Amino acid sequence: MQFPVRRQPSMWPNMRKHWLGKYLSYGFGTFVTRPIRTLRGVAGYSFGVTQLLCNAACMASPLQIELVPCLRDNYAYLLHDMDTGTVGVVDPSEAMPVINALKRRNQNLTYILNTHHHYDHTGGNLELKARYGAKVIGSGKDKERIPGIDIALLDGETWMFAGHQVLVMETPGHTTGHVSFYFPGSGAVFTGDTLFSLSCGKLFEGSPEQMLTSLQKILSLPDETCVYCGHEYTESNSKFALSIEPNNEELQEYAAHVTHLRNKKLPTIPTTLRREKSCNPFLRTASREIRKKLNIPETASDSQALGIIRQAKDNF
Ligand SMILES: [Zn+2]
Repeated sequence: MQFPVRRQPSMWPNMRKHWLGKYLSYGFGTFVTRPIRTLRGVAGYSFGVTQLLCNAACMASPLQIELVPCLRDNYAYLLHDMDTGTVGVVDPSEAMPVINALKRRNQNLTYILNTHHHYDHTGGNLELKARYGAKVIGSGKDKERIPGIDIALLDGETWMFAGHQVLVMETPGHTTGHVSFYFPGSGAVFTGDTLFSLSCGKLFEGSPEQMLTSLQKILSLPDETCVYCGHEYTESNSKFALSIEPNNEELQEYAAHVTHLRNKKLPTIPTTLRREKSCNPFLRTASREIRKKLNIPETASDSQALGIIRQAKDNF
């Protein structure tokens, strides 16, 4: 079965309605994202703390999200519920940078969320769990491969993080058990190695069809959703994207902005779904320019096109 990227996937609209129903029943309204301060990271990076604020109708307190650079180009994310002081971390590839960030903030750690089993997303699990007694949350399909997992969740299940609804979306392709975590009240999605800014993850355990369906699930979220991915790959991704769609003006502007940020050692994350739809070649399989550049026939399906774009990126 083929799902053109520009259309909704057939299996997801129902889920989206289901989610939106919950979303509305919780009284969430419009959301504002604003950076509140800049901190100096442990690895000499500068990184922003983003406070996600919702309007007065919102029942959950603001969720603060802090980027924690790990290893060479990974990001872990500290999630802080400002009302209860509850803290979680997404994809701690190593423990020490997370411990240092928690020490600096004088905070404890209650939860560890993993998008997938790769070591550079779970490497800190056991040490953090032993030190703080944190609970590990991950995919029920990957229980055997996620170190220390306590709470196993499946596609479409919801889980509460200190009053914040978290929706689990299975997004296979990079690995079979990959999930993304969507926080509708904060307009944030943690996409691990499924969706990067200007790219998608390598297809280690999945097919182009699976990756396309996963990307379409993520695209069914509101355009203003902030995307927090697992790696700072944006600048190199922009070079590939420009090589196959050089006349995309929004991409040109974004690529220049990304270079400017990276020259200052600033993160390019979060990005937004709106921007990715305009610039990310893996979400633009219908682009004539991309198809022409890569000799993808007009008759090729979107998943075939995605497979060819992925191959070209692997060899770039
Ligand atoms: Zn990975």
